[in-house]
Amino acid sequence: MCGIVAYVGRKVCQPLLIEGLKRLEYRGYDSAGIAVIDNQNKLHIRRAVGRISVLENALSHGEALPKAHIGMAHTRWATHGAPTEANAHPHSDNGGMIALVHNGVIENYVALKQFLSEKGHTFSSQTDTEVLAVLIGDFYAELKAKNHVPHGVSLLQRAVQAALHQVDGTYGIAVICQEEPETLVVARRGSPLIIGVGQHEYIVASDASAIVEHTASVIYLNDNEMAVLHPDSFRTSTIDDTEISPVISQLENKLEAYGLGDYEHYMLKEIFEQPVSIANCLRGRADAKEGRIVLGGLTEHSRELMRARRIILTAQGTAWHAGLLGDYLLEDLAKVVTECTYASEFRYRNPIVEEGTVLIAISQSGETADTLAALREGKEKGALCLGIVNVVGSTIARETGGGIYLHAGPEIGVASTKAFTCQCVVLTMLSLFLGRRRYMGQSQCQEIIAGLCAIPDQMQAVLAQSEQIKEIAGKFCDRENWLFLGRGYHYPVALEGALKLKEISYIHAEGMPAAEMKHGPIALITPEMPVVFVATRGSQYEKVISNIEEVRARGGKVIAVATEGDTQMRRYSDHVIYVPHVMECLQPLLTVVPLQLLAYHAAVARGCNVDKPRNLAKSVTVE
Ligand code: GLU
Repeated sequence: MCGIVAYVGRKVCQPLLIEGLKRLEYRGYDSAGIAVIDNQNKLHIRRAVGRISVLENALSHGEALPKAHIGMAHTRWATHGAPTEANAHPHSDNGGMIALVHNGVIENYVALKQFLSEKGHTFSSQTDTEVLAVLIGDFYAELKAKNHVPHGVSLLQRAVQAALHQVDGTYGIAVICQEEPETLVVARRGSPLIIGVGQHEYIVASDASAIVEHTASVIYLNDNEMAVLHPDSFRTSTIDDTEISPVISQLENKLEAYGLGDYEHYMLKEIFEQPVSIANCLRGRADAKEGRIVLGGLTEHSRELMRARRIILTAQGTAWHAGLLGDYLLEDLAKVVTECTYASEFRYRNPIVEEGTVLIAISQSGETADTLAALREGKEKGALCLGIVNVVGSTIARETGGGIYLHAGPEIGVASTKAFTCQCVVLTMLSLFLGRRRYMGQSQCQEIIAGLCAIPDQMQAVLAQSEQIKEIAGKFCDRENWLFLGRGYHYPVALEGALKLKEISYIHAEGMPAAEMKHGPIALITPEMPVVFVATRGSQYEKVISNIEEVRARGGKVIAVATEGDTQMRRYSDHVIYVPHVMECLQPLLTVVPLQLLAYHAAVARGCNVDKPRNLAKSVTVE
C-alpha cells in the first residue's frame, strides 16, 4: 500500500518522480505529494487530495516547483487520518528542515507524539508519519547541537537511525534534508523498498514499476536495513549501522509489461492475458509426455515435502481463495492433509505446528503484511516455509527457503485476476508434483498435465464470450445483492466471483457452497436476486441442479456457468455461459473467467473506476 518514489542524481527530478508516482498509483490513490530540494538548498513541498493528476495540475498551474536534482514523492493509502491535504505526505519536521515519505504504520505514534509535544513540538496532521518526521528533526537538531557526528558521516543518517530505534511498527521511508542537499536516506521494516542503481543516480521505489524505465539494476533492501545515497556513492547498512555489502540484481520484466496496451483498463487486459500468463507459468515445468512436473524452487526441499504430514496454505483475499482450491487439490491429488487458513488468523491464534508441517504462503505481491507475519510465525515454530508469489525478489520470496514463482507478469489492476489463475495453476502443479511422488500413477499424472497444458487455448473460447457476458452484466448491474454458488472445486470459484463483484462494482455479493444456501441465505431469494451458479458437468452436477431448482422455485434469477453442449441447462437458467469441458480438477481455471468478466462489465456499467476501486489498494502491506 502507498507508493514511494525518490531520486538523487544529476537529472531534474520532478518529471521522473511524477511519472514514477503514476506507475505506483495502483498502490494507493487518496492523496499525493512531492518534496524537492532546489539548487539554493531550499526544501519545497506540494501536496494534493485525490489522484496524481490533481497534484500534477497544481504543479503546472501556480504551484510550480524549482528545478531540483533530489526529491521524493508519495501516493497515499490512508491508515491514520482522513485523506486531506494536511495528512498527505511528504511530512516535515517543525523547522521545515527535513521531509519524509512513509509507507506503513508507526504503532507507538501516540506515545511519541506526546513525548515530542512535551518538548514543545507541534503537529499539523493526524498521521503517524508526521510524528516520525518530527522525531527525526528533533534528533537532527540534537546531534547538530552536540556536534558529535564524525566528519564525513551524514548527520541525517544518524538522526534517522536514532529515530528508527524509537519506533514500533512498520515502515518504508525516504528522507531528505535541506542541510544535506545531496543525501537521500531510505530505510525499511515490513514495507517494501527497492533501490534502482543508475549512472550517478539512484531511484528508490516501492516496487519495480517506477524503476524499470531508468535501470534494470536494483538492490532489494531487507527488513531493518537502510541506505544512504549520494549521486556518486552509496552505502547500505543495518539500522544499527553494520555495513552490508549490497547485492545488485537485475529486474525481470521490461517496461512494456507495465503498459495498458490497447485495453481500456488494466483489469480487462489482465483477464485477457490469462492464456499467456498460464502458458508462461507452465513453461518448462509441466511435461505431459513424461508425466512429470519440474519445480526448480522446490528441488532442495522435495524429500521434506514428500514426507509432509500436513500442509498449511496461508493467504488473504483472492490468494486465500486460490489457497482454498489448493486445499481441495492437494487432498484430492496428493492425498496429503491440507488446511487453508487466513494468515491474519494463523498469526495470532497460537497455531499448533507439528513435526512434518509445511507452510506455504501465497501472495501476488509477496509483500502482504498478514501473510508475511504468518510465514514468520510458521518459521518460528519450525515448519518448512515455502512461498507462492508473483513478484520476483519480494519479501516473501526472500524469506522462504524455496517456492514457486507465478511468472504471471506485473499485475496492476487492483482486483487480482491473472495472478489468481496462475496461483491455481501452481497449486495444481504442486499437487501433481507431490501426488506423483506419493500415490499417483504416471498415466493419471500425464492425463492431468495434458489437460493443464490445454487450458490456455480453451480459455480463449471463454474470453470470446465477453460481449455476451457484458449483456448479462448490463441486465443485472442495478441489483444490489447477488449470490454466487458452487460445490466442490467450484466453492472457491464462487467465493472469488463474489469478491470480484464486491471489489470493483460495490455490489454486495456473497459466495458460498451451493448446499449452504438452504441453511439460511435462501431467505434472501426474491425475483430481484441474481444467483450465479457454477454448474459444470462433474461429480456434483445433479446436486447443483437441485439447488438451482430451489432458487427458481422462489423466483430468483439464475445465471449458470455450464459445460459446452449442456443444452438442458437453458431450461433451468435465465442465462447460461458455456465453458469447454475439462476434467473436474481443472474446471476452476475456466469457470472463474466468466465471473471475472461479469464483475468487470457490471462495474463499468455502473460507472465505477475498475482499476482503482474505492478504499482499496494493491499490495496490502499493513496488518
Ligand atoms: N500511516 C501512514 C498514513 O496514514 C502511511 C500510509 C501509507 O502507507 O500510505 O499516512
